Amino acid sequence: MWQVIGQPRAVSLLQRSLEKGSLAHAYLFTGPPHVGKMTLAVNLAQAVNCQTDEPPCGECSSCQKIIRQKHADVQFTGLISAFEKTESRSKTEIGIEQIRQIQHSASLPPFEGRYRVFIIDDAEFLSIEAANCLLKTLEEPFERVMFVLLAKNARTIPDTVVSRCQKLEFIPLSAVEIEKELVGCWSVEAQKAKLLARLCQGCIGWAISAAGDEELIRRYREDRDIILDVMCRGYEERFAYAAQLATQFNKRREITLDILNLWIDLWRDLMLIKAGFAESIINIDIEERLGRIAEENDLYDIRYFIKNIQQAMQNLRRNANPRLVLEVLMMDIPARKREKAGSQP
Ligand SMILES: [Zn+2]
Repeated sequence: MWQVIGQPRAVSLLQRSLEKGSLAHAYLFTGPPHVGKMTLAVNLAQAVNCQTDEPPCGECSSCQKIIRQKHADVQFTGLISAFEKTESRSKTEIGIEQIRQIQHSASLPPFEGRYRVFIIDDAEFLSIEAANCLLKTLEEPFERVMFVLLAKNARTIPDTVVSRCQKLEFIPLSAVEIEKELVGCWSVEAQKAKLLARLCQGCIGWAISAAGDEELIRRYREDRDIILDVMCRGYEERFAYAAQLATQFNKRREITLDILNLWIDLWRDLMLIKAGFAESIINIDIEERLGRIAEENDLYDIRYFIKNIQQAMQNLRRNANPRLVLEVLMMDIPARKREKAGSQP
């Protein structure tokens, strides 16, 4: 049984190809984190190696080994494994060595199953050399070898690689679907399910993890509180925050980008409240607090600042000086009405 929640198009396409024996030798799954890409990739690896008549059964020894990442023919790689192999922990790409190692394994026949499957997570972080190396393998595919690349989007992967893969796009689920799933299948308490369904923004994997992990929610709330606090502080505190984010960006850029996404979510909520659509906000547990902040800001300023955050994220991705980008962003936080009346900020 396919374990992924939602994504009926992707599942039925794979199911049909499996039945007809017409599976591609390379797939590219795109979509936001925690939307189900890895779950479906694991299911696909199980399906081609399953020992029963109803693949993927999830029960046979092959399916079980794959889910536990203990199957000799199913290999996982991505940024995390790049981190493990580097001492500096500043690794920001999947290097050529990782792909060479995959290439070597791909040239060998399956050891215990029918297919060798290579799941490459964070494929947008393939270095140019690694992508070129992978391209060679994709151009001259080995028999009984399958590649599954996972990425947020295909834009940052070389076209030559993308064109060699069958693309499947994963669509975020609606809050209503996720809430129903959390309550019905994961026995999450109704109020908590409602909040998590909003916070995860269509990415059910995050909601399921958060439902069973208080620490994840605690960290989320802590990051959110810091943002709400910094917004009301003077330049000194804001610049200290910018410096801290910049240092973090140099070590793990995706964490900083996640925090900036949280800034966008909060300011989007303020915009929705201001525009009279409070029922659509994400952070429903702090609606009152957001309402008070929204009262203090102009709609125009809120919209303008959201654009500034997006611009800052784009500049960071283009390798602009992180400290400068973040300091400018902190200066751009709109002055509240009572500050405008007095001195700034
Ligand atoms: Zn099975």
